[in-house]
Amino acid sequence: MSRFSRIKGPRPLYICAAAGASVATYRLLKPEPFNASLHPHDFAPYILVDKQCVSSTNAIFTLHDGFGVPEPNSIKEARRRGVWSVQTKQPQLQIARAYTPLPSKPDEADDEDGHSLRFLVRQETGGEMSTYLHRLPAGSTIELRGPTVEYELPQDVKEVIFLAGGTGIAPAMQVADALSRSPGSTMHLLWANRRREECEGGFGDETLPDLSGHQPSWWKGLLLGQSSNQALPVGTQKAGSKGLIVRELETLKERSQSGTGALNVQYYVDEERSFIRPGDVAKRLHTQPSERQGSRLILISGPDGFVQYWAGKKLWVEGREVQGPLGGVLAKMDLKNWHVVKL
Ligand SMILES: Cc1cc2nc3c(=O)[nH]c(=O)nc-3n(C[C@H](O)[C@H](O)[C@H](O)COP(=O)(O)OP(=O)(O)OC[C@H]3O[C@@H](n4cnc5c(N)ncnc54)[C@H](O)[C@@H]3O)c2cc1C
Repeated sequence: MSRFSRIKGPRPLYICAAAGASVATYRLLKPEPFNASLHPHDFAPYILVDKQCVSSTNAIFTLHDGFGVPEPNSIKEARRRGVWSVQTKQPQLQIARAYTPLPSKPDEADDEDGHSLRFLVRQETGGEMSTYLHRLPAGSTIELRGPTVEYELPQDVKEVIFLAGGTGIAPAMQVADALSRSPGSTMHLLWANRRREECEGGFGDETLPDLSGHQPSWWKGLLLGQSSNQALPVGTQKAGSKGLIVRELETLKERSQSGTGALNVQYYVDEERSFIRPGDVAKRLHTQPSERQGSRLILISGPDGFVQYWAGKKLWVEGREVQGPLGGVLAKMDLKNWHVVKL
């Protein structure tokens, strides 16, 4: 499902249940038995316990289960399977939107009973749900339902190239988290943002030979005090302060290295005139067949225009959104045995 299409897709989600203003109201109004924790069909109350600004438009929301019950098995299962989402409800307008939970924080990763969910939410100009969420004070009740598994990773997945635009980084982080538990897998994450403020201090792991003919951009050399065509060893490309998501990506990298997978991250910023190019994808398509049996995936997640540019439109068929034919830039490339999935 393309991340921004449900809102104007053929089947907008209008919610008809009565809205409770707090957990107490929930307890009073909702007939027993009811779902104290996340459920695929009924909304359950969560409490907004923290909101951390990532940039002028994006924030990470942390929600706790309103009744403090342990994380349900459905969430553990969804985390294991790949890309998943939950829906939030806007009680006055009776609308719902999907959001993609971030992986657990490192200190909670081993906490089997964890009951928090975290989301990276971008405040869209004029957006009904995102503006509502961004205005809520700490302690507010937010109603959630789910989880919905949007894409299940094949069990034999070996390599992933993930093209993420903006908040499309959230499903990419879910995949990185799932792969960190998958022996011998590799993930190349290429993350594009319009502005540097989304990924402050993120300068990537570029050590692969550049087959595209493009030199590293001049600003990177300036920022890092190096000449623009000088190779930068992994781990030395650090700038002063690091954004929240950049720090989380670094934690995921550490987790993947201490586990069995390997995660490479490359950052691209429009306002610095640094864009993901077809050559950046092409040079990551190489494989050594005898050693590396298994599925190879190119996953794409971000605004509709980003997904369409790389892989063409998703389609609606009989009320369901489907992949549609491969189009865009990837359709013109020799993808060998790689399979493309539009998220
Ligand atoms: C599976 C999935 C996972 C997602 N995960 C995330 C996530 O992790 N983080 C995240 O931030 N988002 C995520 N999204 C997107 C999210 O669901 C919402 O679509 C997004 O937050 C915008 O919703 P909204 O109600 O704020 O905006 P809406 O009110 O739906 O408006 C969206 C945009 O369209 C414009 N618009 C609305 N109506 C009109 C009109 N009539 N004419 C012209 N323009 C109009 C608005 O100004 C706004 O810019 C995900 C989407 C999906 C499908």
